[in-house]
Amino acid sequence: MNKGKLFLGSCFALTLALPAMAQTIVIHAGTLIAIPGTTPLVKQSIVIEDGKVLRIENGYVRQDDSQTIDLSCCHVLPGFIDMHVHLTSKVAPGGKLRVVTENSADLALRAAEYAKLTIEAGFTTVVDLGTGRRAHEKAIYALRDATREHRLPGPRIVAVGSPISPTGKSRTGLYRSEVEDVVGPQAVCNGADDCRRAVREQVKRGADAINFYNTGSLLDDYLVEQTFTDAEMLAIVETAHSLGRKVIADGHTAAGVNAAIRAGADVLDTMPWPDKETWRLIRKNKTFFSPHLYAFAVSLGDTEESLRDGTTHWLPEPILKRMLTVKQNTSSAQEAHQRGVRIAFGSDTGVINHGDNAGEFEELVKNGLSTMDAITTATVNAASALGMEQIIGSLKKGYAADIVAFENNPLQNISELRQVVFVMRDGVVYRNEL
Ligand SMILES: [Zn+2]
Repeated sequence: MNKGKLFLGSCFALTLALPAMAQTIVIHAGTLIAIPGTTPLVKQSIVIEDGKVLRIENGYVRQDDSQTIDLSCCHVLPGFIDMHVHLTSKVAPGGKLRVVTENSADLALRAAEYAKLTIEAGFTTVVDLGTGRRAHEKAIYALRDATREHRLPGPRIVAVGSPISPTGKSRTGLYRSEVEDVVGPQAVCNGADDCRRAVREQVKRGADAINFYNTGSLLDDYLVEQTFTDAEMLAIVETAHSLGRKVIADGHTAAGVNAAIRAGADVLDTMPWPDKETWRLIRKNKTFFSPHLYAFAVSLGDTEESLRDGTTHWLPEPILKRMLTVKQNTSSAQEAHQRGVRIAFGSDTGVINHGDNAGEFEELVKNGLSTMDAITTATVNAASALGMEQIIGSLKKGYAADIVAFENNPLQNISELRQVVFVMRDGVVYRNEL
């Protein structure tokens, strides 16, 4: 293969790659981190059949009836998992208008473009956390099914549909009442019974996991510290679990976060302001934490002046200053890591550019994680947070052949994870620049 010549991102190239699923593929890995957190091994062969890892052997194995992919130059890892993306959107001025000018087909086409950028960046599984719009739900489920079947290039998508929220706290923009009747937020519920209905409805429409807003938004004028009542949160989590769905609670302040942990939420998203009780509850319930630090860095920069240069510079200044305060304080991610909390990787692409997901690795290392620990957040930990630890996040017999490779050692310099040269998902090659 010639460097830069074989870039299997186009649909044409994809049709070439697909028949490979039926045959055996052997990857020669120069250095292999099969299970992040364990010692890398050199000169390994990964034998793949029907999109799954059949076995891993010492040395470079050759089989007459198989295709060999030479990654002997490279550092080979399991494909990455991102717990927080918004595949149908990209934050920019004018977003409120696009809600009424773009339909689900527009969103699906936009999302297809972003999904391609995402897998080409080495992210083979993502959790789409939704927008709260019905047009989004239609688009994301169509895209999820298309990428699952390799009809379009993209990651394996775990979709939440619309986040569950109480009246007035959906985080969607407000419109005149007659416009709201058409584009109003989905999955709104009030009272425990109504929240059970909302969860069941999301699952019926296609949700793979459930996301709910346990606090108001960081972008609100007034910070609402807990949205749902304890009883409502319990109803959301119990119903989701009874339907086999993991639950992600998205919020910032301790009151709402603590209530979500007590209710049994599996993953805490964002959480910049925990308190002592939060850490006690996390330890007791073994809750995962997904902080997404890079989105703050890109949106805001490091200084008050840089607020005006960030990607969200057009937001009202008091809100930007509040977000900058979050960034300037010791991060909850740093404290979480010191306390041994399991961190699951999340980038919030849509706020940052799609395909720029790997920037989060650098922020995790800046916040005290070792390079191996940072890699573990996007593999072993995220897989466990999703209940998919028997399928993805490691390379073992029977696991999905989700594989990424880098020419330089990411354990020495985490920024190397921005330079992916090979990406495979379920045995199908989506990028090969060797
Ligand atoms: Zn987000």
